[in-house]
Amino acid sequence: MTPTELSLFQIQLLEWFTQQQRPLPWRQHYEPYAVWISEIMLQQTQVATVLPYFDRWMEMLPSIQAVAETSEDTILKLWEGLGYYTRARNIQKAAIMICEKHGGQIPQDFSELLALPGIGRYTAGAIASIAFNQERPIVDGNIVRVLCRLMDWRDNPRSAEMQKKIWNAAEAWIPEGNARFFNQALMELGATLCSTQAPLCLLCPVPSFCKALKANTIDAVPAKTKRPPAKQRITALAVIQNEEGELLIAKRPAEGLMGGLWEFPNINLDKDTDIEQALKQGIRQQQDILITVDQPLSIIKHAYTSFKVTLHCFLCTYQRSESDSTREEHSAQWVPLENLKQFSFPAAHGKIIQILSQERMA
Ligand code: SF4
Repeated sequence: MTPTELSLFQIQLLEWFTQQQRPLPWRQHYEPYAVWISEIMLQQTQVATVLPYFDRWMEMLPSIQAVAETSEDTILKLWEGLGYYTRARNIQKAAIMICEKHGGQIPQDFSELLALPGIGRYTAGAIASIAFNQERPIVDGNIVRVLCRLMDWRDNPRSAEMQKKIWNAAEAWIPEGNARFFNQALMELGATLCSTQAPLCLLCPVPSFCKALKANTIDAVPAKTKRPPAKQRITALAVIQNEEGELLIAKRPAEGLMGGLWEFPNINLDKDTDIEQALKQGIRQQQDILITVDQPLSIIKHAYTSFKVTLHCFLCTYQRSESDSTREEHSAQWVPLENLKQFSFPAAHGKIIQILSQERMA
């Protein structure tokens, strides 16, 4: 774009954003803490999904200090269902660092932002521009789509060369003193009108600048990148009940996939395994307890982002312990069904709790 075109483009886009932006809670005061939490929640997640989570989070944890001081279980419970739980744990690590090193205030210095856990180039740019109105670019999926279409860039947007081009444009196009609204306007355009399929070009505030519209290449831009097929996992899961009618749940290790969440004991299965036998042996090794596998409960299929899982769930009965160690040493607890809602579970295990609750009510 020539400087004159760019200036017109900025004016038209900003005018549209001023009039049409969605009234989102973190846009009320642009309070840095609220901007930060919203940006982390919005990674890989739609606004409509985030809104109730954001409200609940802010109500329970109204300050960075409150995040730093609460338990990890509270953080994970507030995040339950949003996925990518490392995000939540990193928020707490960053909150502790902000309280210790920055007096409880999110730092405005870009390199200090980047030094916080869970904050990379995108999030640092979002906080710097949206909360502090610094002229820092941001590039997310929406902005990639909008910029590639505006410029009719047809190459793979994930290539190093295209990434450089996109980040450079995102930086060069920011109008002086107006990064907060310009960056959000680009994202808003991608989220509301310039969608992946069937963009609403008739409502677009900047169609005369759109080279893909002129060239009739919108469907092909940005170039699609192939994702590797999701891995399949087959798992056997034990809903183990003791004499008091309590159920055994175990905490996943803090680090790694869904770290820190609770789950029903389960084992991964190889092909052609005797499922019930493997489950008995697996639980014996994992929990040091003997169980009987009584009857199938359900087969649950669930798709996570990087893999799909089929859970063969069984109702089981606790027989006896094989060791002197306490349950706590195995990070496991016996919990009555009605108290399970106090713990945070991966989505597939949440489905099992629903089934168990429905069966009890039937
Ligand atoms: S004209 Fe259509 S494709 Fe181009 S930026 Fe606007 S909504 Fe996107």
